[in-house]
Amino acid sequence: MYDIIIVGAGPAGLTAAIYALRASKKVLLLEAKTYGGQIITTPDVDNYPGFIHISGIDFATNLYNQVKELDAEIKYEKVIDIKDCEEYKEVTTEKHTYQGRTVILATGSDNRKLGLENEDLLLGKGISYCATCDGNFYKGKVVAVTGGGNTALEEAMYLTNIAKRVYLIHRRDEFRGEKRKVNSLSKKDNIRFIYNSNITKINKKYNKLDSIEITSNDGKVKELNIDGLFIAIGRIPENQNFAKLINLEPSGYIDAEEDCHTNVEGIYVAGDCRKKELRQLVTATSDGAVAATEAIKYINKNYKEEEENV
Ligand code: NAP
Repeated sequence: MYDIIIVGAGPAGLTAAIYALRASKKVLLLEAKTYGGQIITTPDVDNYPGFIHISGIDFATNLYNQVKELDAEIKYEKVIDIKDCEEYKEVTTEKHTYQGRTVILATGSDNRKLGLENEDLLLGKGISYCATCDGNFYKGKVVAVTGGGNTALEEAMYLTNIAKRVYLIHRRDEFRGEKRKVNSLSKKDNIRFIYNSNITKINKKYNKLDSIEITSNDGKVKELNIDGLFIAIGRIPENQNFAKLINLEPSGYIDAEEDCHTNVEGIYVAGDCRKKELRQLVTATSDGAVAATEAIKYINKNYKEEEENV
């Protein structure tokens, strides 16, 4: 029986592990792929407090080593089901079933991709999914944002204060995001809206982004030379395996407030897979600390006598 089973070894899950292990809890960390989560794809982290600059992979590796030094038990297995068995939670992976007094879900979310050739190849070489993280590399340059939701509108707004010109490309003739945001963005001198259009090709030169092909809904094709492309077409949370037990929002994120409690007692959520406004490294690690602290409180309250008898 573990005290805390953490699902996901990204920044939220690893931080939860640090807090839980330092409180002398018996922890199992389960990860489907590799440690680090989404941050390992970011070449430059320049906005995490305390680090002027660090690469995503270095940040994740430091965090991983910190957890290993605390003697964490880490298994690379994909979780496919969780059951609430009242006295404990049962976590089933593709290989085994584990029992824990509490569970912290830290499965993250993934950027929705355009699915075009060169999209993965040019990540960090002209393509980004986060203006707050990478916008500063495009000072005085020409960039494009694609998407029509609040994220795309906010990313475009952020970039208008940095780049020389910002194109906002959306597949329909009206934005899904808030009118207020559209109005503020329209007032910027350097924004250009391209409606009813999709990006259909991403072109590279010397292994860097060079241009994109845009096809309008009436079939007209044009090429646009840009230095940076910010893709903001939504995110895909990885929560469907828990949907039978845990309340999800319609968008698929786990419905929990800042205290990280889910609808099931003893099951907590941390990081990008939780409903929230700001999905950043700093909010993921913050959630990890909160979720672990809440799990520790729950264990100390509900299993105190058992622990005293051991
Ligand atoms: P979103 O609201 O789901 O919008 C995604 C946008 O991408 C939509 O406009 C969609 O077009 C477009 N899209 C989806 N797949 C596409 C594809 N394959 N090719 C081209 N375009 C595609 O996602 P989001 O903007 O990331 O926002 C997610 C949630 O967070 C929303 O509820 C949003 O309101 C919220 N949020 C809130 C704030 C805030 O309040 N400050 C800030 C950011 C996000 P269609 O419109 O045609 O479907």
